[in-house]
Amino acid sequence: MKEFTIIDSFFTKQNCQRKDVILPIGDDCAITQVPAGQQLAITTDTLVSGVHFPQDSSPEAIAHKSLAVSLSDLAAMGAEPAWINLSLSMPTGDPDWLARFSATLLAQCEYYSVQLIGGDTVQGPLVITITAHGFVPEKQAITRKGGKPGDLLYVTGCVGDAGLGLAIALDKHQAAAGNASYLRKRLDFPTPRVLAGNNLRRIASACIDISDGLLVDLQHILQGSGVGALLQLEHLPLSAELLAEVGQQQAIDLALTSGDDYELLFSVPQEQVTNLERSMLQCNVPVTCIGQLTGQTGKIQLQWNKQAYQLQRRGYQHFALEESVE
Ligand code: ADP
Ligand code: MG
Repeated sequence: MKEFTIIDSFFTKQNCQRKDVILPIGDDCAITQVPAGQQLAITTDTLVSGVHFPQDSSPEAIAHKSLAVSLSDLAAMGAEPAWINLSLSMPTGDPDWLARFSATLLAQCEYYSVQLIGGDTVQGPLVITITAHGFVPEKQAITRKGGKPGDLLYVTGCVGDAGLGLAIALDKHQAAAGNASYLRKRLDFPTPRVLAGNNLRRIASACIDISDGLLVDLQHILQGSGVGALLQLEHLPLSAELLAEVGQQQAIDLALTSGDDYELLFSVPQEQVTNLERSMLQCNVPVTCIGQLTGQTGKIQLQWNKQAYQLQRRGYQHFALEESVE
């Protein structure tokens, strides 16, 4: 299929038509309007077949994940998604693949009230790049820099599932059928915590989404905020499916070192804890306190029931962590 036919057939008809899109897909540029009092948060992610998703992934999974990783970045800043650009590189213009990919992408866009406002379509290896734009009220973006010693450290949802999902996808772990399908879904269809992120504005002091692994991403908060952290691992939220498959020890190691969960990791000043609990209850997102920020810049202390904990397995960025994890 030709580029124009692809765009017209699969990406132009959308149910989400936003008033702040002045000129949609079809011209050299899109024209949009940022509401008064809001700032624009912008993020780009590229997903390469065989690197960022298993080669056997369905077009639905690829579409879902491509959007989710970008919306997750907006969520981590407390931004509300508005528009996306899609750059699509694919070997052949396979109409069946395109129909399934675009149906999922546009349905997810509609769910989040996001409009696809442009992009590029080229022939090449399967690579999907999405740039997402979101609004955040002036000066209310949640960065990695605001954490203070004493702030409590929280995580949404469960961690470690996507890591085992990947092991299953790569035939490195054989799981019971029910667990396998849950864990693979957590890899392929992550939930961007958009509502939670928006509700964390003026509550969280720092926030990041977990894409590379809890410890690696925590380090970014520690570096950004100039603090350390103490993790109480007995509190880590682990799914029943993960525990059933690998047991507690390996589940903890996966939760700490494997990526792709796209949960939010954030710090909360103690005086905001009541607000946090009320707010997360209202938006129906489970959150768990897993530790606290400390004054020891860059240091992560791991404890299990107040005893020092020795990590078994290190994430693939473990060299960066080697010296700072105790
Ligand atoms: P140009 O050559 O001027 O960059 P293109 O021919 O690449 O324009 O694209 C025509 C229009 O279609 C533009 O508005 C562009 O943003 C849009 N577009 C191209 N590819 C995609 C895509 N994959 N998804 C959404 N919009 C697209
Ligand atoms: Mg172009």
